[in-house]
Amino acid sequence: MTSCSRRNLFKLAGAGSLALLLPVTSRFGDAMAQEQLDPSDAQAKALGYVHDTEQVDPAKWASHEVSQNCANCQLAQGNDGEWIGCAIFPGKQVNRDGWCSAWVQAQG
Ligand code: SF4
Repeated sequence: MTSCSRRNLFKLAGAGSLALLLPVTSRFGDAMAQEQLDPSDAQAKALGYVHDTEQVDPAKWASHEVSQNCANCQLAQGNDGEWIGCAIFPGKQVNRDGWCSAWVQAQG
């Protein structure tokens, strides 16, 4: 193996290592950058979001069931940790035990 091809091999190995790290670091960065959704936020209130599905007012949200929560919602993004992303509230994190009226049963 020539020194030139060895150098190219090291370049490729370095680029490959960096490519493997990017998804991890960007996910970590997203989690760090997002704040927790405030239930008093106007959109959160409109959709009846609460951090704990057991706190949903059954008089107001008759279709709600206690088994429904953000962790088993199709609109959740990621499922690691207590706080997860949500397609309805971009840039915010919702509690995995939370709920809002946009809840849809996750598939699979
Ligand atoms: S859309 Fe789903 S994941 Fe998002 S807040 Fe509502 S119940 Fe939770």
